[in-house]
Amino acid sequence: MISTDPVTVVVRTGRAGQYADWRTTPEHVRSWHRRALCGGVVGEVFFAADEERPPMRQHRERVAKAICAACPVRQPCALYALVHRELHGVWGGLSEADRRRRLARP
Ligand code: SF4
Repeated sequence: MISTDPVTVVVRTGRAGQYADWRTTPEHVRSWHRRALCGGVVGEVFFAADEERPPMRQHRERVAKAICAACPVRQPCALYALVHRELHGVWGGLSEADRRRRLARP
């Protein structure tokens, strides 16, 4: 679920030294979410079902990432998930594990 609460943070987006000021407002979230390629895709592609096994997860995440790769709002989507510490799902081409690794970088 997309939060529409305004948030301002600085988030590391790539290798050391790459930072971005990231400001979300309800208007901004609506502006990129309207163009989301996943709008018509069933949620099961982006979020794990209960008791999902690793091979199924890998396949599901590959499919979701392929959709994200063609999405025009991939970057704001990924940043949104990082800023809001989304725990579940593929966002902006980043899986849960991808986001954990990025956020854990010193
Ligand atoms: S980047 Fe992926 S998860 Fe984000 S809006 Fe686009 S298709 Fe959906």
